[in-house]
Amino acid sequence: MIVPENIAKQLLSRYGLSVPAGKIAQTPDEAAAIAQELGDRGVVKAMIPIGGRGKAGGVKVCRSADQVRSAASGLLGQELLGHQVGSVLVEEPVPIARELYAGVVASTATDRIELILSLSGGVEIENTATQDQSSLLHLAIQPGDLLPVHRVRQWLRQSGVDLNALPDLADTLVKLYRAAADLDAILLEINPLVVSQDGRMFILDCKLEIDDNGLSRQPELAAVYMASLSERELRARQLGVSFVPLDGDIGVITSGAGLGMATLDLLKQSGLAPADFLDTGGGISEELVKGALELVMEPPEVRGAIINLYGGINRMLEAAKGIRAALQNITGDRPVVVKILGNQQEEAWAMLASEPNVHVIRVVQTETAVAKLAQLLN
Ligand code: GDP
Ligand code: MN
Repeated sequence: MIVPENIAKQLLSRYGLSVPAGKIAQTPDEAAAIAQELGDRGVVKAMIPIGGRGKAGGVKVCRSADQVRSAASGLLGQELLGHQVGSVLVEEPVPIARELYAGVVASTATDRIELILSLSGGVEIENTATQDQSSLLHLAIQPGDLLPVHRVRQWLRQSGVDLNALPDLADTLVKLYRAAADLDAILLEINPLVVSQDGRMFILDCKLEIDDNGLSRQPELAAVYMASLSERELRARQLGVSFVPLDGDIGVITSGAGLGMATLDLLKQSGLAPADFLDTGGGISEELVKGALELVMEPPEVRGAIINLYGGINRMLEAAKGIRAALQNITGDRPVVVKILGNQQEEAWAMLASEPNVHVIRVVQTETAVAKLAQLLN
C-alpha cells in the first residue's frame, strides 16, 4: 500500500523528523481556512499517489488564503497524471535553501536495506541520477541491524559529504531508516529533503510504500488500508480471493496468479480488455465461486466473462454449482466462457451444458477459451 502523504508525514514526525504543518482539504473553502491558520499563506499540493506533481502543476506556493482558495479550486476534481484529485494538502511554506534526496529501499536484488542519498534532490532527480550515477550515494544495511549514527557519519564523510554544512543529515537519515524498518516499508522516499533558509532539515515530500504482508503488526496502517478499499474490494477480501479491479469490460476469474496473468495477456492479445484480476486461490467452493462471479459481473459495463479454473484435487462440481447459482442473480444476456479442469470436471461440464449464456470449453488451452469469448462478443 502507498500510504497517503499526510499520514506518512504524521508517522515520520513521531520519529522526531520535522514535517511542515498542514492539513487535508476537500473543498477550496476548507483550503482557504487552513491557509488562514497557517498565517494567510500555504503550499497547495494535489493528493495523488505518485510523484511528478511539481512539474505537472500540482504544487502551488501561495502568498495568501485567497490564492490558496483559487489554487485548490483549480486542482480539485481535475485529473493529474492519470489520477483524479479528490483532496489537496495545504502546508506551511518552507523557505528552501537546499534540496536533497533521501531514500530507504528494501532491495530484493541484494537482500539489504539500501540507504540512498543525493545532494541534488528535487524535481530533476531522475535526470540527475541517470546522467550521473555517482551522484547517488548508497549504504547497504543488513535487515534488522541497528544503524548507529556514527556509522552513517563515517559513511557520509568517506563519501565526501561536507557534514559541517549539513549538521543534521546523519541524524535525519538514521531516523528515516528506523521509521522505514518499524513500518515495514518497501520504499520510503523523501524528495526533496530540504534545508530551510534558517538551517533546519524538513521532510517536504514523502512517498511511503509499505509491505501489505506486515499489516497484521501495523494496526494503525491496517485501518488506513481497510479505509482505502472500495466496497467491492472489501467483499473480495471477505470471500478470501485476490481481486484487483482493472479498467476493461471482460470479467476474469482464475485459480492461481500465474494462470490469471496468462489469461489477462491472452485476452489483451485478442483485443479484449480485462475488467479485473480475480484469483480464487486454493480452496474452491460453491460459495466462493458464486460470490466471485457475482462480484465480477456486477458492473453493467462488463460484457462477458471468462472463468479459467485449474482445480487439481478441488471438486469442480462445486465450482459449477457456484456458477449456476450466481447466474440466477445476474442480469443481461452476457456470455460466460468456462474452462474448468480438475477433480469431477466431467460432472461440472455436464451441469453447465444446459445453462443459457454459459459456454463450456473442454480442452486445456486457455487460447481456445479466449478465442470463443472473442467470437461471441464480436
Ligand atoms: P512532486 O513533484 O510530486 O515530487 O511534489 P513535491 O511535493 O516534491 O513538490 C515539488 C517541488 O515543489 C519541490 O521539489 C519544491 O521545489 C517545491 N515545493 C514544495 N513545497 C514547497 C515549499 O513549501 N516551499 C517552496 N519554496 N517550494 C516548495
Ligand atoms: Mn517530490
